[in-house]
Amino acid sequence: MEGKVIGAVVILALLASIPALIRLPGYIQSTLPVENDAIVGYGFEITDIENEYEPAPVPNAPPEIEEDITDWMLILVNSEHPIPQDYIPNLSKLDNGLEFDARAIGKLNAMINDAKAQGLAPIVVSAYRPVDRQARLFMDKVVALMEEGYARELAEAITKTSIAYPGTSEHQLGLAVDIATLHCPYLDERVAEAPEIKWLTAHCAEYGFILRYPKGKEHITGIMYEPWHFRYVGKRAAQEIMQRGITLEEYLMGQGAK
Ligand SMILES: [Zn+2]
Repeated sequence: MEGKVIGAVVILALLASIPALIRLPGYIQSTLPVENDAIVGYGFEITDIENEYEPAPVPNAPPEIEEDITDWMLILVNSEHPIPQDYIPNLSKLDNGLEFDARAIGKLNAMINDAKAQGLAPIVVSAYRPVDRQARLFMDKVVALMEEGYARELAEAITKTSIAYPGTSEHQLGLAVDIATLHCPYLDERVAEAPEIKWLTAHCAEYGFILRYPKGKEHITGIMYEPWHFRYVGKRAAQEIMQRGITLEEYLMGQGAK
């Protein structure tokens, strides 16, 4: 009986040493979900766990959007692509005091001035918008949950279900503007009929801007039709996007497929 117990202990000890001999390749280790950090501290190492983290092939998965994050003009920001945490907008002031990306502000001013030269009266009513208000709202909720005893990660996960995560508004990039007009100062569908918006929609690509949230593309952008919201993406991308009537998402997907 005693011999059997000792034998079992020896076998268990041998079995326990096996995982330590097997190391995951570095690229798999680097893709391990962060939550598994919790395992460290319980006498295991993440690298001792094998096979469970082999990514399973997903049948008919939609093509992943390849965004070129090195190209500042084409940074994609939507609910699934928040602004990188370390993104620092490079801002310059418009005549009305609002701020816009310093690298593209010349194009914005040229577009607005050329519209004015046509006798039109576009007004930039929103440009760069700091994240602080939404971040404050979000953090208040996280802190309240943490005070109830939730760990930070869990508190954030719960908060995300009711409050949009800070960093998912394109205005935070400093590359988007909302444009109204003297005759139609409303930011709703009525503004689409204003001559200013018609002119801008027809000519924005010449200055590197696109109508970012077109009608009929809500299922792709996740945002309702916004005839007043223009985004700088550079002239080459803007001309292709506006000519083909596509969205930034579709354009970037096409770039990734090439
Ligand atoms: Zn906007």
